[in-house]
Amino acid sequence: MKIRLAIVFILIATTPMVWAQDHYFRTIEPNKDRVNSIITQTVSIDKIAGDTIYAYASNAEFERFSKLGYAIDILPYPSINAKSIVMANTIDDMASWDRYPTYEVYREMMKRFEQDYPNLCKLDSIGTSVKGRKLYVVKISDNVLDNEPELEFFYTSTMHGDETTGYILMLRLIDYLLSNYGTIDRVTNLVNNIAIYINPNANPDGTYYYGNNTVSGSRRYNANNYDINRNFPDPRVGENPNGPYQTETIAMMDFAEERNFVLSANFHGGIELANFPWDAWESSDNPHPDHNWFKTISRHYADLAQANSPAGYFTGWDNGITHGGDWYVVEGSRQDYMNYNHHCREITLEISDTKCPPSADLPNFWDYNKEAMLTYMELLFSGIQGMVTNTYNEPLEAIITIEGHDKDNSFVTTNPANGIYFRPIESGTWEVTYQADGYHEQTHSVTLNSIHDIVTNDVVLTERMKYDITFEILSGDTPIPNAAITLNGQSQQTDEYGSTTFVEVPEGNHSFFITHTEYNQYNDEIEVDANKTVQINLTPLGLTYKDDYPEVRVWPNPFSHSLNIEVSLKQSITLEVSIHSLLGQKVATITNQNLTNGIQRFSWTPNPSLPAGVYLVQFNLNGRSYIQKILFAPTPR
Ligand SMILES: [Zn+2]
Repeated sequence: MKIRLAIVFILIATTPMVWAQDHYFRTIEPNKDRVNSIITQTVSIDKIAGDTIYAYASNAEFERFSKLGYAIDILPYPSINAKSIVMANTIDDMASWDRYPTYEVYREMMKRFEQDYPNLCKLDSIGTSVKGRKLYVVKISDNVLDNEPELEFFYTSTMHGDETTGYILMLRLIDYLLSNYGTIDRVTNLVNNIAIYINPNANPDGTYYYGNNTVSGSRRYNANNYDINRNFPDPRVGENPNGPYQTETIAMMDFAEERNFVLSANFHGGIELANFPWDAWESSDNPHPDHNWFKTISRHYADLAQANSPAGYFTGWDNGITHGGDWYVVEGSRQDYMNYNHHCREITLEISDTKCPPSADLPNFWDYNKEAMLTYMELLFSGIQGMVTNTYNEPLEAIITIEGHDKDNSFVTTNPANGIYFRPIESGTWEVTYQADGYHEQTHSVTLNSIHDIVTNDVVLTERMKYDITFEILSGDTPIPNAAITLNGQSQQTDEYGSTTFVEVPEGNHSFFITHTEYNQYNDEIEVDANKTVQINLTPLGLTYKDDYPEVRVWPNPFSHSLNIEVSLKQSITLEVSIHSLLGQKVATITNQNLTNGIQRFSWTPNPSLPAGVYLVQFNLNGRSYIQKILFAPTPR
């Protein structure tokens, strides 16, 4: 006994540098707005109980937080309390699933799955951790080596390295799916119809913080002291919410980019609940358009977990579910990233109050969650789904939008490789619009009678015709060369005969405008429904206007710093004065309001970064416009 204590003491005493890299503490903040702004932006909140906030912090984060003036109660690092951790040193030691594998045993297991089930399982590494450990993913599907047109599903666990329950459940789920294929109908059905991807451990450096042979003392952060679940692009605050993207984050982002996941979940521990989007906003500020769908499916997970466990399990927060931001707001969460950036429905599953539970308890957590995990995957057999192709039966990269419902990127897309899509939604009748570049869009009315209903809707989009449009620009009878025409986002100039042709313009109505240094700008719209030649007559600048037109004076011209504009009005009138580039882009609005009669003076000082050159001052009133050319010639500094 004494000897063992001494060894533990030496271990801690000789690794002080490692030990001090991150902190676990609690503090008090009753003001929810401050929790959701200053606190969540400074440290990594773990959980909240009433006014008490439990959080992790790296040294740098802790230093910043210390300056905020909160009372800080340092707590033992959660995993230091980990009890009864028994490690498996061989694959055989994992037979009863009541041990944690060493890192080497984990690697062997992953390789063994592929070796034992080569037609069902393909092992891949999507990258390596900071310290060079593998970020493994298995694909499980029938004909696993083919890219069959199947919806893609993803489970990932333990991006917080000290939350180890999901790690073991993922390994066990892989084993369960592979060993029961062809025996249990439900499993066969999942494996036959879905491309299932499973990543057991997204932060192995955190889990094996004290080396490959133990998960004792595992850590939340990665080896660079970053919380990976605060490290993804965020729908509200944007890129790099907590610093540079970590190698583990980049691997996940690249993988998500390469695949076409439509449904996923990421596993955690520390509480027992299902957490659904958004994390970035409170639901009262900005609910997800599919808030009710997320709430219902999260409730289902919690109900199934409760039904298969002793009383009290999976009852965190609101009896086992919470909207992310209503619990506490997080910036840079993976769930929000997958939903917002990849149109993939993802939730966060917190499956054990103890982050790193005794290894003997692991089989219980499997029993509690197995039914819920399988049922969650079976959500892929619900909703609106099908294939979007063209008339040649080629798959299309299409966007599928629910009219009057979708926002914040909640629309879904087809997998461009095979055209298939998945749009889960609550029961109701929905107007579903299918759009693909170069094709006529279609809107279909689809009715779902329950959240588990499935409606297969294959859609064939017809190509938009394309036509050639020729412009002939004249002034009177004289052809005008060098007139710039902008149509459908493209600009071309007329040739010496005053002509230019836009080829393959997609059918439909398109606005266009024509500019020239010596003629008034011309704006109009054209209906593209055949090959056409359009003649346009331009009026020269400086035309004599009727008597009621105001006198204008613009000086100095050329100007280097400020331009003066004077308008003499004979009556009170709404006048717009604006500055344009020669291509017709508006550079500045000088005024646009009702002005009293008399002399009105304005001045314009362009931003110094404005390129030197010719610009147009445009005066608009009563539907007519007058244009004055000016030359901006800034003095070089
Ligand atoms: Zn976590």
